[in-house]
Amino acid sequence: MGKLKKKIALVTGASRGIGRGIALALAREGAMVAVHYGTRRQEAEEVVRAIESGGGEAFAIGADLAASGGITELYAALDDALQRLTGAKQLDILVNNAGIGQYATIRETTEESFDDVMGIYVKAPVFVIQQALPRLRDGGRIINISSAATRIAFPNLFGYSISKGAINTLTFVLAQELGARGITVNAILPGLINTDMNADTLSDPEGRRFASGLSAFGRWGEPEDVADIALFLASEASRWITGQLIDASGGSRL
Ligand code: NAD
Repeated sequence: MGKLKKKIALVTGASRGIGRGIALALAREGAMVAVHYGTRRQEAEEVVRAIESGGGEAFAIGADLAASGGITELYAALDDALQRLTGAKQLDILVNNAGIGQYATIRETTEESFDDVMGIYVKAPVFVIQQALPRLRDGGRIINISSAATRIAFPNLFGYSISKGAINTLTFVLAQELGARGITVNAILPGLINTDMNADTLSDPEGRRFASGLSAFGRWGEPEDVADIALFLASEASRWITGQLIDASGGSRL
């Protein structure tokens, strides 16, 4: 308890799934967490209540990161809440997690569907990070949620995998620029995790067999499996790790 005491964290897309798991884990170690949501305000407020009932601190902020002006809206809400709660507009930990599922091969990919994945997984994190920089304290942490699909080829995750590949490159490049400020930038590459994004796969017996067969452990992942890695990357213990892509797939292979 208390590894992240006095730290302020922003987790995008934290109303459910992996983001929710990360928000709970960071708060458990004492961070005050901004639980960001797109449209599901109620779910985000439930996450805030779960954190508070465990003795932690959190607040919910909403913004559509795929919409024009959405990121400005995100920071206006964040600044307002932080000013009120802490008297400063400063952040220690940023987790870029928000995202959408998209199953499509190259032939099934349209200009619009490609813009969708590139918008939420490349453009949004770039400008969420850009606007975080003046608020992020030296020694801070940026954690990007990428995917094991950048290392294991799934032809039906064509655009999705390409967009996550861009986040891997962003991680590696940005770590060099921010090193002078002691800020670490790392990415987590989850394998198949039990979230709403995979509800269709995991509701079907064949899908469950496929999902549990991917990892070396014979099971699919849970949000907590990813959240504990994020917790390590957010903590002082990871200070000498930057620009790295950390596998969170239980040794998955096809
Ligand atoms: P999820 O669908 O459960 O949660 C996604 C979150 O992102 C939700 O809170 C949603 O509201 C938010 N979001 C989506 N579009 C948004 C927008 N336009 N503006 C603001 N918020 C938006 O998904 P998840 O499985 O928890 O995925 C979280 C992250 O983990 C994603 O980046 C995903 O690509 C990555 N990931 C997931 C898996 C997996 O198997 N579930 C595997 C590898 C990587």
